Amino acid sequence: MDGREAAQLRHWVFDMDGTLTIAVHDFAAIRRALDIPAQDDILEFLAGLPAHEAAARHAWLLAHERELAEAARPAPGAPALVRALHERGCRLGILTRNARSLALVTLEAIGLLDCFAVDAILGRDEAPPKPQPHGLLQLAERWAVAPGELAMVGDFVHDLSCARAAGARSVLVNHAANPWPELTDLFARDCAELQRLLG
Ligand SMILES: [Mg+2]
Repeated sequence: MDGREAAQLRHWVFDMDGTLTIAVHDFAAIRRALDIPAQDDILEFLAGLPAHEAAARHAWLLAHERELAEAARPAPGAPALVRALHERGCRLGILTRNARSLALVTLEAIGLLDCFAVDAILGRDEAPPKPQPHGLLQLAERWAVAPGELAMVGDFVHDLSCARAAGARSVLVNHAANPWPELTDLFARDCAELQRLLG
């Protein structure tokens, strides 16, 4: 897919942390604080614990992430890109492994909350986490379009794999070079370059 083809798309779903914001999560430190082995997926590990052990860790994670959300800073070009798509009348969504409540705090902090309908902001309690495709499929159904009409914009391999699994278009941003070309339909070094590619 080139920029001209991408510019025809009217449905855009964004990852949040590291895509619309400057990445600040120190996942190694989070794993250490919660006694999660270095190689394990944080959300999957917590999901596998007995409820009473998981509850305190989820509470810690939420409090830690709230602090990060309140201090969120926009990634280069992200506010202008999102606002331009919003002004073109595109439907916009968020699919994040963060919690929806924190997505709202983060979007408010970077000045973009008005560009997204709250029910199009899917966090870890609204859909199974990426790379599972359910969140994208849910948004496609809500918007009554085929998944192939959706672009998923993200900064990590989970975002690209999620798009692939759903049959949506994958867009990678915020890397100097593309580490996952086989999973990427469109690559831009950041959101400002993506906006230029869309014309
Ligand atoms: Mg990310």
